Amino acid sequence: MLNGPTSDVWITPWVTELEGLGVELRLGAAVEAIESEHGRVTGISGAGFSDQADYYVAAVPVEVLRERIAMDELRRHSPLLAGLDALQVRWMNGIMFYLRRDVPLVHGHTIYIDSAWALTSISQRQFWPQFDLHAMGDGEVGGLLSIDVSDWETPGEFAAKGKVARQCTKEEIAEEVWAQLKAALNDGTEVLADANRLAWFLDPDVVAPNPTDATNLEPLLVNTKGSWTHRPPAELPDVENLFLASDYVQTYTDLATMEAANEAARRAVNAILKASGSDAEPCAVWKLHQPGGLPFQVAREFDRVLYKVFGSSHGPLPTVELKDGDLRLNRPGPL
Ligand SMILES: Cc1cc2nc3c(=O)[nH]c(=O)nc-3n(C[C@H](O)[C@H](O)[C@H](O)COP(=O)(O)OP(=O)(O)OC[C@H]3O[C@@H](n4cnc5c(N)ncnc54)[C@H](O)[C@@H]3O)c2cc1C
Repeated sequence: MLNGPTSDVWITPWVTELEGLGVELRLGAAVEAIESEHGRVTGISGAGFSDQADYYVAAVPVEVLRERIAMDELRRHSPLLAGLDALQVRWMNGIMFYLRRDVPLVHGHTIYIDSAWALTSISQRQFWPQFDLHAMGDGEVGGLLSIDVSDWETPGEFAAKGKVARQCTKEEIAEEVWAQLKAALNDGTEVLADANRLAWFLDPDVVAPNPTDATNLEPLLVNTKGSWTHRPPAELPDVENLFLASDYVQTYTDLATMEAANEAARRAVNAILKASGSDAEPCAVWKLHQPGGLPFQVAREFDRVLYKVFGSSHGPLPTVELKDGDLRLNRPGPL
């Protein structure tokens, strides 16, 4: 979670830092091909440009690398790159609601576990102490709800009753999401009021040309069962000068997030240091911190062993439950 609007606290400072280091950023230059010979990259090209370098880092989403960038020779040479086809992406996109008065909800993420469109939310203002919302825009906005919509295939229940999100217009999506939020939050008291809603903004990657039958320019990788083996490491064993720095790479983080992309990038940097014989200090790489301490760790280990032993058998699995500080094994049947 960031401590302010993404551009203000992250993108702009980072771009400034890179430019200060002499990095040339070319916006709007989509790579369309990676040329190679015998598994060694010799150049990249796109509309009206081409470039050569000693080392290359592919930091584009998995569906772009495998579907929109031509690299046939490289795929023939590298089974790991060819294996990217086995990875799955699904829709997950965001919508913002701008509120007159702030509604903090909880100090963290909220998951709307029974919402048809699998909503989660963050009420942003409480996490942005340095930013005065009233000093932005027309000054009317006092609160900001940021919502992720993770199910685009289940019919809506209110404004878009019976319609799946990907067939809705932008307006229908906004109204249905708002109604699903109200159904979950206005439980006896009115937490979200229509009169408090000033405006909304749907992720522009959801493009609805017709106006239905929307396309999504930016789907998200999902870890499906068995997908780990199809995810490549940052350092490809069969390509000497191309490295991968994106959220689908095998990392300790192991979930398509900014943290995973960041870890993959650190691994790619280390691989370049190694390949180039540099004696510069490598980037740190650390195991994912698991919250919850020892009790949860023990419960997870129990769970792992039980799954190993009984996972392939039919019928309900035994589960481990942590209750009032005690670990309890629930056996669903005779074992
Ligand atoms: C709705 C939503 C909410 C999320 N919430 C969170 C969250 O709360 N926390 C979290 O950690 N993660 C979150 N994620 C996941 C996170 O955004 C991604 O995992 C992360 O951005 C992946 O980083 P990346 O560098 O691999 O790819 P990206 O951030 O997708 O960057 C890829 C870059 O490649 C560029 N590009 C594309 N095609 C080309 C081309 N042909 N040539 C050159 N450049 C190209 C793109 O413009 C883009 O800048 C969320 C994702 C979504 C969709």
